[in-house]
Amino acid sequence: MAASHEAAVQRALPSISCVVPCYNEADNLENLLPLLSARLASLAPQWEIVLVDDGSTDATGERMDRWIRQPGVHALQLSRNFGKEAALTAGLEAAAGAVVVMMDSDMQHPPALLDTFVRHWRAGADVVYAVREHREAETAFKRVGTGWFYRLINHGDRFEVPQGAGDFRLMDRRVVQALLALPERNRFMKGLYAWVGFESVAVPYLPDERQHGRSYFNKLRLLRLAFAGLTAFTVWPLRAVIALGFVLALAAFGYGAYLTLVYLLYGHDVSGWTTIVVSLMLFVGIQLVSLGVVGEYVGRIYEEVKRRPLYVVKRELGQGLRKDEA
Ligand code: UDP
Ligand code: MG
Repeated sequence: MAASHEAAVQRALPSISCVVPCYNEADNLENLLPLLSARLASLAPQWEIVLVDDGSTDATGERMDRWIRQPGVHALQLSRNFGKEAALTAGLEAAAGAVVVMMDSDMQHPPALLDTFVRHWRAGADVVYAVREHREAETAFKRVGTGWFYRLINHGDRFEVPQGAGDFRLMDRRVVQALLALPERNRFMKGLYAWVGFESVAVPYLPDERQHGRSYFNKLRLLRLAFAGLTAFTVWPLRAVIALGFVLALAAFGYGAYLTLVYLLYGHDVSGWTTIVVSLMLFVGIQLVSLGVVGEYVGRIYEEVKRRPLYVVKRELGQGLRKDEA
């Protein structure tokens, strides 16, 4: 895909915004900010860093007052921890650049890759996303889990959520507008990026080690995120319930026929209470699970119809790009 752009006219980059969500990342930001501002300044005449403090409980909030004294640093402080997806959305809404880059604040995303991102954008790509090269460092749980997750979420859809791609990406202003125009509250970003489409180029990279602190996303949170993604982008769990119902009904029909035959051939037989108890429990269990699956979707509908804002901004500090000058 990229090759076809190479021959085209190179686009000029007037301004760039970099959105950085941070949740308890004071020490990492101390290291990241100087590196990032130097890098952005070398890429475009006008640039900004949009820091989104997602309700940090460490020194991130206090240090913001110092960081925003550096030129180009714009900071939003959310009123509590709303989660990375909400923090990213807050940052995207505040960003004013002609292109917007998103990166984590824990130094896992090398700022040096921004040069490659911009090179592809200049050549015509609308989205440039980084793809983790290998997952050896990750636990078997995470590797197998993500494998299954992508198989399930991509089953039979018109667009594909690429495996190994995350929030580390560059997006053209048009793509940002398209993302922000999506009305849903359940913002499973990896799915939304794929849904909006546009010319996309993947750039392989090796994530660095997290410098300070630890990852927020433990097993339970990852599972919850995966479930939010699946319910937001597929209805196959509902179809699986229908299929299961059919299979069981068919089996019950066959067993019923067999019992009738036994009765006709050998007469009345009152034993069989084990069968009754076991099958009763099995079917009650399956029914409750099915109800749970349906309930999960109903719950998501409830979340959507409440139409609560995705995040609340407590403080907005510093001066980034102005929306009219970018
Ligand atoms: N993050 C956030 N809100 C949260 C959790 C995380 O803004 O509730 C930010 C965090 O500060 C970091 C990024 O999201 O910049 C990725 O988080 P983390 O490193 O914990 O995730 P991982 O790299 O393990 O996927
Ligand atoms: Mg990380």
